[in-house]
Amino acid sequence: MKIALLIPMYNEEAVLPFLWQETQAVVQKLPQETFEYIFVNDGSTDGTLAQLKTLAGQHPNVKVISLSRNFGKEAALSAGLTEAAKADAVIILDADLQDPPDLILPFVQKFKEGFDVVYGQRADRSQDSFAKRLTARCFYKFYNALASRRLPENAGDCRLLSRRAAEAVLLLPERERFMKGLFNWVGFRTTGVPFTRQKRR
Ligand code: UDP
Ligand code: MG
Repeated sequence: MKIALLIPMYNEEAVLPFLWQETQAVVQKLPQETFEYIFVNDGSTDGTLAQLKTLAGQHPNVKVISLSRNFGKEAALSAGLTEAAKADAVIILDADLQDPPDLILPFVQKFKEGFDVVYGQRADRSQDSFAKRLTARCFYKFYNALASRRLPENAGDCRLLSRRAAEAVLLLPERERFMKGLFNWVGFRTTGVPFTRQKRR
């Protein structure tokens, strides 16, 4: 199977070498799958794009999409998803290693068991400030009181989407996309994998 790793990048030159090294170490544990990297440079003003171009020159499985300015993470994911949805499955990761690349292993495992959407769910928020925990709780309470489809709590964008789930998201006409809302809204067989969110590297 071909699995696309979709990673939005905004001024991540300092972390990119670590991201590459740690992600490569994990994908090498799954030699029967083919991985490709889709990096979306979201208008970085540092050396991110230059580094990505160097990587792409060295590795044919690295693709770089570079936006004309900074549009924000939601738009960057949107831009990369069209390309990523050509693979059998897409895995979305943050560049700063807050979503540990080790999650790729259970994500692929669950995908093989037949799940279309596998989201990372934070086991606890003890690393967060009081204000962050409070606003996050309020957000989920408020959203889930309004929405007809419940948003799983403490799950971010970090997840696997099968090609059909990614294509369903791409069919939606929204231009300003709240991605994790839409990833959830499209349905399909869904499950969560608990993880501990790391500090920004
Ligand atoms: N990001 C992006 N565009 C932005 C801001 C962030 O593509 O305008 C990327 C960033 O490079 C990272 C991910 O989105 O890969 C999450 O960003 P960040 O770590 O700043 O967010 P947080 O961890 O606070 O949610
Ligand atoms: Mg972060």
